[in-house]
Amino acid sequence: MQEFARKFYKSKAWQVCRAAYIAWRVLVDGGLCECCGKEPGYIVHHEIMLTPENINDPEVALNPEYLSYECKACHDLHEGHGVGKGKKPLARFGPDGQPVDLRRI
Ligand SMILES: [Zn+2]
Repeated sequence: MQEFARKFYKSKAWQVCRAAYIAWRVLVDGGLCECCGKEPGYIVHHEIMLTPENINDPEVALNPEYLSYECKACHDLHEGHGVGKGKKPLARFGPDGQPVDLRRI
Protein backbone atom coordinates (compact mmCIF):
# COMPACT_ATOMS: atom_id res chain seq x y z
CA MET A 1 0.00 0.00 0.00
CA GLN A 2 1.26 3.43 -0.82
CA GLU A 3 2.20 5.62 2.10
CA PHE A 4 -0.39 8.35 1.51
CA ALA A 5 -3.16 5.74 1.50
CA ARG A 6 -2.22 4.19 4.80
CA LYS A 7 -3.87 6.87 6.88
CA PHE A 8 -6.98 6.83 4.72
CA TYR A 9 -7.50 3.08 5.04
CA LYS A 10 -7.22 3.37 8.81
CA SER A 11 -9.70 6.24 8.99
CA LYS A 12 -13.08 5.79 10.62
CA ALA A 13 -14.77 7.33 7.60
CA TRP A 14 -13.38 4.64 5.30
CA GLN A 15 -14.08 1.81 7.76
CA VAL A 16 -17.71 2.87 7.99
CA CYS A 17 -18.03 3.40 4.23
CA ARG A 18 -16.45 0.04 3.45
CA ALA A 19 -18.61 -1.86 5.97
CA ALA A 20 -21.76 -0.18 4.66
CA TYR A 21 -20.82 -1.01 1.09
CA ILE A 22 -20.20 -4.67 1.91
CA ALA A 23 -23.47 -4.87 3.86
CA TRP A 24 -25.28 -3.47 0.83
CA ARG A 25 -23.61 -5.96 -1.53
CA VAL A 26 -24.58 -8.83 0.80
CA LEU A 27 -28.19 -7.67 0.54
CA VAL A 28 -27.94 -7.45 -3.26
CA ASP A 29 -26.38 -10.82 -4.12
CA GLY A 30 -24.99 -12.33 -0.95
CA GLY A 31 -21.70 -10.47 -1.28
CA LEU A 32 -20.36 -12.01 -4.48
CA CYS A 33 -17.49 -10.51 -6.45
CA GLU A 34 -18.90 -7.81 -8.75
CA CYS A 35 -16.33 -8.70 -11.37
CA CYS A 36 -16.72 -12.47 -11.91
CA GLY A 37 -19.91 -13.05 -9.88
CA LYS A 38 -18.60 -16.44 -8.76
CA GLU A 39 -16.26 -15.92 -5.84
CA PRO A 40 -17.22 -14.17 -2.62
CA GLY A 41 -16.06 -10.57 -2.41
CA TYR A 42 -12.84 -9.93 -0.54
CA ILE A 43 -11.73 -6.36 -1.22
CA VAL A 44 -13.62 -3.11 -1.74
CA HIS A 45 -11.93 -1.65 -4.79
CA HIS A 46 -11.78 2.04 -5.75
CA GLU A 47 -12.62 2.34 -9.43
CA ILE A 48 -10.88 5.70 -9.45
CA MET A 49 -7.24 5.17 -8.55
CA LEU A 50 -6.61 7.04 -5.32
CA THR A 51 -3.91 9.67 -5.44
CA PRO A 52 -2.60 12.18 -2.88
CA GLU A 53 -4.82 14.75 -4.68
CA ASN A 54 -8.15 12.91 -4.49
CA ILE A 55 -7.83 10.72 -1.42
CA ASN A 56 -9.26 13.39 0.86
CA ASP A 57 -12.17 14.07 -1.47
CA PRO A 58 -15.18 12.12 -0.15
CA GLU A 59 -16.83 12.41 -3.58
CA VAL A 60 -14.09 10.14 -4.88
CA ALA A 61 -12.73 8.15 -1.96
CA LEU A 62 -15.99 7.50 -0.08
CA ASN A 63 -18.46 7.45 -2.95
CA PRO A 64 -20.20 4.07 -3.38
CA GLU A 65 -20.65 4.94 -7.07
CA TYR A 66 -16.95 4.37 -7.50
CA LEU A 67 -16.56 1.30 -5.32
CA SER A 68 -16.80 -2.34 -6.27
CA TYR A 69 -16.62 -5.48 -4.17
CA GLU A 70 -14.24 -7.99 -5.70
CA CYS A 71 -12.58 -11.31 -4.99
CA LYS A 72 -8.84 -11.31 -4.59
CA ALA A 73 -8.13 -12.78 -8.02
CA CYS A 74 -10.17 -10.11 -9.83
CA HIS A 75 -8.81 -7.32 -7.68
CA ASP A 76 -5.23 -8.36 -8.39
CA LEU A 77 -5.87 -7.88 -12.12
CA HIS A 78 -6.20 -4.13 -11.66
CA GLU A 79 -3.13 -2.22 -12.60
CA GLY A 80 -0.96 -1.29 -9.67
CA HIS A 81 -2.75 -3.65 -7.30
CA GLY A 82 -1.75 -6.98 -5.94
CA VAL A 83 1.61 -8.37 -5.09
CA GLY A 84 4.38 -7.78 -7.56
CA LYS A 85 2.65 -5.10 -9.63
CA GLY A 86 3.67 -1.49 -9.41
CA LYS A 87 5.42 -2.00 -6.11
CA LYS A 88 9.04 -2.25 -5.19
CA PRO A 89 9.86 -5.81 -4.22
CA LEU A 90 10.53 -6.30 -0.54
CA ALA A 91 12.64 -9.38 -1.14
CA ARG A 92 14.91 -10.84 -3.77
CA PHE A 93 16.80 -14.08 -4.01
CA GLY A 94 20.45 -14.35 -3.18
CA PRO A 95 23.05 -16.59 -4.86
CA ASP A 96 22.21 -19.43 -2.47
CA GLY A 97 18.56 -19.34 -3.55
CA GLN A 98 17.38 -17.97 -0.24
CA PRO A 99 15.27 -14.82 -0.16
CA VAL A 100 17.15 -11.70 0.86
CA ASP A 101 15.19 -9.13 2.83
CA LEU A 102 15.96 -5.77 1.20
CA ARG A 103 14.80 -3.91 4.31
CA ARG A 104 17.81 -5.26 6.18
CA ILE A 105 20.41 -4.20 3.63
ZN1 LIG B 1 -13.95 -12.11 -9.01
